[in-house]
Amino acid sequence: MLSAQDLLPLLHGYQMESRRLRDGITEIPTPDTLTIPLPGAEESYTRLAGEGAEVAKGQVLSAPKYAALAHAPAAGFVEAVEFREIPSCGQVWTARLRVEGSQAVQARPVRGETEAERVLRAAADAGIVDEMTGRPLYQELYRLRRREVSLLLACGIEDDPWCSSACAVLREQGEQVLEGLRLAAAFCGAKETGLAVSPPELRALRGSLPAARIERAPARYPARAFLLRRLRAAGTAAGLLGPQALAALAAAMQGEPQTHGVVTVFGDGVRTPRNLRFPCGAPLSSLLASCGVREEASLFYVGPACQGHTVTDPDTPIPLHARCITVLLHPQKRRRMTCIGCGRCASVCPQGILPWQIHESLHREKVDPFLLLNVQSCIGCAACTAVCPSGLPLSAEVARAAAIRKSGDFF
Ligand code: SF4
Ligand code: SF4
Repeated sequence: MLSAQDLLPLLHGYQMESRRLRDGITEIPTPDTLTIPLPGAEESYTRLAGEGAEVAKGQVLSAPKYAALAHAPAAGFVEAVEFREIPSCGQVWTARLRVEGSQAVQARPVRGETEAERVLRAAADAGIVDEMTGRPLYQELYRLRRREVSLLLACGIEDDPWCSSACAVLREQGEQVLEGLRLAAAFCGAKETGLAVSPPELRALRGSLPAARIERAPARYPARAFLLRRLRAAGTAAGLLGPQALAALAAAMQGEPQTHGVVTVFGDGVRTPRNLRFPCGAPLSSLLASCGVREEASLFYVGPACQGHTVTDPDTPIPLHARCITVLLHPQKRRRMTCIGCGRCASVCPQGILPWQIHESLHREKVDPFLLLNVQSCIGCAACTAVCPSGLPLSAEVARAAAIRKSGDFF
């Protein structure tokens, strides 16, 4: 089975040691233009603010039937409503907002007879998205109630070794997260609550963990699935919710919509990795500017490494639930090390090629034709390059070896 290190397609030798930030959250200035995703708003009647409309901060922009409501993170006027690609959302309608005017938010009273009803209404009306799944929180609450969970956990487990947005929210908004957890548990019927963390987060949060029951997950991917399986085997039906969504639920009970997210911006392409609070739909460039992006940075990866998306356009709007943005230097400009003989390239090659051997062979004075016997079968999947911790361009070398073999020029 591949380890998390092997699974990450973006690595190109990027070192995977835990690099969690222990910093707090920095709020970025609101950019002049926001492009707010309106997921699920395919029918025109669900898009409530058309082109040219003036909107107040917190005003509902779309009210789709099966997705989260979208709110304006700032006051302004809608320049365009268009269909475009948003990382982690796919092709969706968006509202491009020129930010201007009063930025006072109008809190909306929460409706409902019982606390459970108010919790569900608050989650739905505030447009809260569970950052762990990308789904609307009210749907997650329904799902957990149907599953009759007895233990509800705020999930502090990060997917990536450099992602620390969940830790930052737990550290800075611990009380709000616990209040949201209490409300969510009351709705789901869960008798117990707690925090789910794995050892790296425990170390990163030492001294600043909110007081709660702790459920430890293993330090290997997929830690959340391992934890739920262990609890299930012990007879406990448990559920996980993201700390951002839970903190937003506590705020939603005061009538505040969720308009901002927290994301970790990390990688060797930025000078100052940070946890940033950003308005939904802020362009990637505005987040990168807060972290001192390097000129040579050319690979932007939005979302956790196993589920995220590569983007090339710095104007790409970032959705609320992004959680992690990795910025890497162009592979050509990154440091390469010598082969350490770990064998990962060979273990992932679907064609049974030994890329490390090809690499060594190409760096000798004379290429040994015997070693190039099966290079022709390379399918160019680049799995070998992706897993090489030394950053060696193995798939390109195998392709070169195939060309050498074809030409017969082994000197
Ligand atoms: S690029 Fe070629 S050598 Fe590398 S893993 Fe894929 S098939 Fe194997
Ligand atoms: S080329 Fe060497 S360092 Fe890179 S994956 Fe293969 S064996 Fe490991």
